[in-house]
Amino acid sequence: MLVVKFGGTSVGKPERMKKIANLVLTMPGKKIVVLSALSGTTNTLVRIGDHLIAERHTAAHQEIAELEKHYLQFINELYESEAYQAIGQEIVSRYFSLFRLLAAGKFDDRSYRELLAQGELISTELFYHHLQERKVSARLLPALHFMSIDENQEPELEKISERLKPILETLNNIDILVTQGYICRNHRNEIDNLKRGGSDYTASLIGAAIRAEEIQIWTDIDGMHNNDPRIVKKTIPIAELTFDEASELAYFGAKILHPSTIVPAQKYHVPVRLKNTMDEKAAGTIISDKGSRGQFKAIAAKDGITAINIKSSRMLLAYGFLRKVFEVFERYKTPIDMISTSEVAVSVTIDDSKNLSSILEELRGFGTIEVDTKQSIICIVGNMLLEKEGVLKDVFHALATVPIRMVSYGGSQNNISILVDTNQKDKALNLLNEGIFHL
Ligand code: ASP
Ligand code: MG
Repeated sequence: MLVVKFGGTSVGKPERMKKIANLVLTMPGKKIVVLSALSGTTNTLVRIGDHLIAERHTAAHQEIAELEKHYLQFINELYESEAYQAIGQEIVSRYFSLFRLLAAGKFDDRSYRELLAQGELISTELFYHHLQERKVSARLLPALHFMSIDENQEPELEKISERLKPILETLNNIDILVTQGYICRNHRNEIDNLKRGGSDYTASLIGAAIRAEEIQIWTDIDGMHNNDPRIVKKTIPIAELTFDEASELAYFGAKILHPSTIVPAQKYHVPVRLKNTMDEKAAGTIISDKGSRGQFKAIAAKDGITAINIKSSRMLLAYGFLRKVFEVFERYKTPIDMISTSEVAVSVTIDDSKNLSSILEELRGFGTIEVDTKQSIICIVGNMLLEKEGVLKDVFHALATVPIRMVSYGGSQNNISILVDTNQKDKALNLLNEGIFHL
């Protein structure tokens, strides 16, 4: 069984939705097709939700009306026959009545999450009926029947697997199953989601849960590139990556994959293939246990990083100091990304600065604190055998003219992380592209 996920832009126009239907039909064997909402929809639903939370009803209704127009136009172009036009209209009017109903009631966080879930529900329903119109045998597989997260918002992979098994057995004779990305139920059995961009994660969770042959993520770029194409002129697609390399990259800002996507696939050794809907023939990127050798594979950068330096003579020759520092971050549920220490000081970085002032307040008890905001982590990923000489030389040589705030190397064989001021980022990415990829 294949799990095939298409993102918002791949279903964002009627002709693209038709195109992915063609594509799915050329794929051999059984597949579960995971769809995102049509491009722009989730953003609009977020805006509507924000308006409703803030009781800006007129603005919310304006957005709803505009979105409705968009969908009416969409079905108009998607379906050929009058009968299916009528089905399309029924679908749109059902969803938009729900939006108006939600807008009219007491709008709380729960209604907000219910609203956000409608994007994927409507896109899959529209796609399913498109297949029906083409007389393709397919079935909808409601994600809310099997996809769940626990009280810590972590997906319940084993439960998902157990729930899927009997469902898939009864659908044994159907080759194409269409399901929603992103949406799930939480531990209170309410509608919830896997956070923005979560459809990739859905595909990986399903792929792992059913031990699929392969998980395919179809987007609008041809696989992962060695560097950020928006910043660097010449980039090249990466043919093969290991799971470890891919997770470093996804986490550090390679926008192509949701950061948690790799985890379930890696756990059950299901290869993840990244493909381009706009260029089906392009090889894309395959992420698997094997990967390929080669020292430097890719560079990714993550902005919005805050570096915190804690300097304390109490750290000198002491044990337990770092634990106390880390506990502060733990109390505020704030993950630390990079860390670098000296005998009397430690620097850490965080990207979630929601609780920064409370964290700083507590850290002041330990020593002198300095904070640098607007930093970027540049993460160089590859197969950097620690016993090999000269790995850092190439990197530092390339970055000779860039001030470097922090460095982290040796934590894994796959990563060198460098912290620079965000205003140095573009320069650093370009210099590394020349210096280590010779592009
Ligand atoms: N529709 C959701 C979003 O825009 C999930 C996804 O596209 O992966 O975040
Ligand atoms: Mg996406």
